[in-house]
Amino acid sequence: MERKRSEELYNEALNYFPGGVNSPVRAFKAVEGAPLFIKKGQGPHIWDEDGNKFIDFCCSFGPLILGHNHPDVHENITENLQNGTSFGAPTKLENELADIILSRNPFIDKIRFVSSGTEAVMSGIRLARGYTGKNKVIKFEGCYHGHVDSLLVKAGSGLATFGESSSAGVPDNVAADTIVIPLNDEQALEACFEKYKDELACAIIEPIPANNGLLLQEKSFLLKLRELCTANGVLLFFDEVISGFRVAFSGAAEYYDIAPDIVSYGKIIGGGLPVGAYGAKEHIMKSVSPDGPVYQAGTLSGNPVAMSAGIAQLSVCSQKGFYEDQEERTKMMVDHINSHASEKGYDFEIFTVGSIFWLAFSDKDAIRRADEIGSDMTPFKMLHKALLERGVYVGPSGYEVGFVSLVHSEEILKEASEKFCDALDEIFA
Ligand SMILES: *Cc1c(COP(=O)(O)O)cnc(C)c1O
Repeated sequence: MERKRSEELYNEALNYFPGGVNSPVRAFKAVEGAPLFIKKGQGPHIWDEDGNKFIDFCCSFGPLILGHNHPDVHENITENLQNGTSFGAPTKLENELADIILSRNPFIDKIRFVSSGTEAVMSGIRLARGYTGKNKVIKFEGCYHGHVDSLLVKAGSGLATFGESSSAGVPDNVAADTIVIPLNDEQALEACFEKYKDELACAIIEPIPANNGLLLQEKSFLLKLRELCTANGVLLFFDEVISGFRVAFSGAAEYYDIAPDIVSYGKIIGGGLPVGAYGAKEHIMKSVSPDGPVYQAGTLSGNPVAMSAGIAQLSVCSQKGFYEDQEERTKMMVDHINSHASEKGYDFEIFTVGSIFWLAFSDKDAIRRADEIGSDMTPFKMLHKALLERGVYVGPSGYEVGFVSLVHSEEILKEASEKFCDALDEIFA
């Protein structure tokens, strides 16, 4: 595969950006070679600057649930663009997107649009603290909530530890209000509530943890978390930036039928443009400025061009049968590859929920905690390379999940399954 042009562009980018990129995983540090510079996307395909064509399962790391350049999204953006790009004043497009969401979502009464998932989470945490008047936050090891200072922490050893920052530049006293415990561990959860219940503002979780492999939780664990939060006056914060509008229209809350107190959205909500949002019931959202004392603002919040992309995308997602169909097609591909791997006796399995899938090199039936993921990423590196050579693009890290979109047809998925099986045969040979 010719990668000359991508390599040239990457070398040029190294002069401009740290690591040559504007978001770290893009730098291909966890896999081989220089990052591919993408020129265009159409439907399920992307093309790089050297003209190589790939079936794309990265889908911009989640936002593109309708595939690349979906005609409805393209058209709505183009149409609204004629009126200008930003006003710093309300537009009817904000109402329109809010109505599409709120009329179908039983968990929140009000929403506030921001410009990224990180911003949504950061604002939601501030709201939880402002509403409860308490400071501590429970976070689960292996869950990613964007690059919010207080959430860039990992667990030390022990049952429940005060956060220790996993990034330079985060002061200890900021990380100290974050308590990190393992996923899917009811005992650790109970002990943590017992110890800190009077100081806790909220517990934040990816109800479908999908940023560190796909760590599907037992529903009983999520229910336990809901129960402990309710019993102790602690807000349950579902970070649905990846799972919202992905596993069901109203996200994992709908999928599991568990009501959170605060929710954050991002990725899919903006149709491929920068949008995030947080929402809650009326009595909680009343605390947000200008109604209440929790300040939060944004020059480009509710941007009309971004809103028009979200409106077009979510209108398609809200159609009947949309999610069932996504799940069915994804399952078809995953089953095909998994049966091939198990027939051949490979220690490899794809874990999946809805249209999310994760390539796991493991002999375990289920992986629910970050510390159960094997640390050797060599097999993933080999698979990534073998897939690229066959025209299949997946995110450049073994901890990233893949996504199937509306336009990954049965035919495309069959083609992709065969390429996956072929790539597995090569690397396990
Ligand atoms: C992607 C993601 C974020 C961060 O969103 P950005 O738009 O990248 O800032 C936060 N939480 C979860 C669960 C995510 O998947």
